[in-house]
Amino acid sequence: MYGGSVRLCKCAAHLPVGQPGRLNCTVVTENVIEAEELKRIVEFHGHMCPGLALGVQAARLALREIGAHAQDEEVVATVETDMCAVDAIQFLTGCTFGKGNLIHRDLGKNAYTFWRRSDGKAIRISGRPGVRRRDPEHQNLFERLAAGEATPAERDRLWKLHHERSAAILAMQPDELFTVVPVDDAPPRKARVHVSVECDSCREETMETRIRLLRGKRLCPDCFDWELGAG
Ligand SMILES: [Zn+2]
Ligand SMILES: [Zn+2]
Repeated sequence: MYGGSVRLCKCAAHLPVGQPGRLNCTVVTENVIEAEELKRIVEFHGHMCPGLALGVQAARLALREIGAHAQDEEVVATVETDMCAVDAIQFLTGCTFGKGNLIHRDLGKNAYTFWRRSDGKAIRISGRPGVRRRDPEHQNLFERLAAGEATPAERDRLWKLHHERSAAILAMQPDELFTVVPVDDAPPRKARVHVSVECDSCREETMETRIRLLRGKRLCPDCFDWELGAG
C-alpha cells in the first residue's frame, strides 16, 4: 500500500531511493482523496468532470495494486481511451505520454492496464457497466451543448450536474466503479530511440520509423498522404 500520511518531497532530486517515488501519489491515503491534491488534478486538467473523477478512482486502484512509477520500479500503462480520465491517471501514477510509459490503445473503453516491470505483476482495471451513464436531464443537456444549442442557463445547469456526478463518483469506493483482474501478458516493449530524417517535402525532421517512400521521396506521414492525394 502506497500513500499513507508521509509526504514525500516533491522534488525528484530528493526522492528517497527505494521508495515509491511518484510525486503525486500522496493523494491516496487509505480511504481519502486529499482535497489539496484533488485541486492540483483539477488545475492540471482544467475542470472537474465525471471522467476525471473516474480517472482518479482508477488511479487509486493502480496505486494500490501496482504502485507508482518510480525510477527504480518502472510501471507502464496502456489506456483504452483518450478522454478526461487519462489526465488523472497521468498525474497520479506518473505514467505519462512524454515518458513513453503510457500507451494509448484507441478502443474507446474506460479500461486501463498497468504492468510493474520489476516482478511482472499486471492488472487490468475496467469500468463496471453503467458507471458512465448520465441521468436523462444530464444526458439531454450534454447533447444540447455538443450540438451548440445550449443556452447559458442550460450550460450552467450542465456544469452543476457534472460537479454533482463527479462528487458522487469520488465519494464511492473505487472497487464499486471498476473491476480489477490480474493480467498474464508481457508488458509493451520499451520505446526505442530512433534518429530523425528530414522530410523531402516539408523539410521537418521526422522519426525515421515514420518516414515513407513515394516516388523516390522520403516523406513524413502528412506529406505522404498529401502527395498521394494530389496524385
Ligand atoms: Zn474533463
Ligand atoms: Zn513532410
